Amino acid sequence: MTIYLDCNATTPIEPEVADVVLKYMTTEYGNAASRTHEYGLRAKKAVTDARKTIASSLNVDVGELIFTSGATESNNLTIFGLAEYGKANHKKHIVSTMIEHKSILEPLSELEKRGFEITLLKPNSDGWVEPEAVKDAIRDDTLLLSVMQVNNETGVIQPIEEIADTIASQDVFFHVDAAQGFGKRNDSLRHKRIDLISLSSHKVYGPKGIGALVMKRRGYKRLPIKPLIYGGGQESGLRAGTLAVPLIAGFGKAVALADKYGKERAKACRKIKSSAISALHSLKPVYHGDLGKSMPHIVNFSIPKLDSEAAILALKGIAAIANGSACNSKSYSHSHVLTAMDVEDDALGGAIRLSWCHLTEEIPWTEICDALNRAH
Ligand code: PMP
Repeated sequence: MTIYLDCNATTPIEPEVADVVLKYMTTEYGNAASRTHEYGLRAKKAVTDARKTIASSLNVDVGELIFTSGATESNNLTIFGLAEYGKANHKKHIVSTMIEHKSILEPLSELEKRGFEITLLKPNSDGWVEPEAVKDAIRDDTLLLSVMQVNNETGVIQPIEEIADTIASQDVFFHVDAAQGFGKRNDSLRHKRIDLISLSSHKVYGPKGIGALVMKRRGYKRLPIKPLIYGGGQESGLRAGTLAVPLIAGFGKAVALADKYGKERAKACRKIKSSAISALHSLKPVYHGDLGKSMPHIVNFSIPKLDSEAAILALKGIAAIANGSACNSKSYSHSHVLTAMDVEDDALGGAIRLSWCHLTEEIPWTEICDALNRAH
């Protein structure tokens, strides 16, 4: 059987989470907005419980979190939702980084067409952005600063707490796309200076198609975000549509398990990472991103003279891997993340990403290394 080594694209679902999703699809199928019967009340309770679990894992109030379809929607809601306030208040400048996910970069480029000015910061060659550069880029007319917590291609952890400290007194909304780190590394997300956080369930062993946006209040005031979807007033009027109760309940369960078993999971991943590094050593890999600053469940590397498409083909039937990010898998252009890190041309075309999790079974390293060795 092909071993799945693409957990950054999506993780397998925890069996206990799948049971919860199934329960709310089969027996407890009420609409959380139905007030006239117990089916609705039980569905509403499932949503309330999930909201409490997720909010408390980030130390935020339940009223500060809305459910969305995933981090893509949360990122879009942050950027487009704040735009009107920016226009009305002469704040039409946004700072972000060159290594963000496309669900940040594309909305930003759309806002640029609508008259906003966008500054994208370059990372260093280790794959992270310097806090001082972030601070320097912020101006009086800056509306929003958006920096990801963990890069999806390299796994490099960004210095979110340091950035939050350096911009402490600057008047700018601070958004963190935490799709890749939430449920694995929540400490930095609890920093008080962060205003908005995008979350995704399917990177933390929950179902696909569900996520959340945390929008912290400033004093008693809600952030000036306008909805993208209008309708029945759900989610405090910010995201209309019947709540996806099975997915929300599953997301809540996934977060409860992440809070409970986070340390053990990280330990299991670290063990796999050191066996990956030892096994790959003889292939002379060039690693992309500072290995000491990256998550324990990923490596991104190139093997000299081996193209990533050839590597993927060589591993067919052995291991499911990615070149760059899965979300870009339709385009064969080089990774924008590695390009921004000034990875050399030869290595750019050969970048391979292996990512695993605590549910990953024994990895056949010898078979993988032999196949890669034969491929060049
Ligand atoms: N941001 C990052 C950093 C991601 O890795 C992803 C998923 N690849 C997303 C946003 C989009 O998340 P979702 O699939 O929940 O829309």
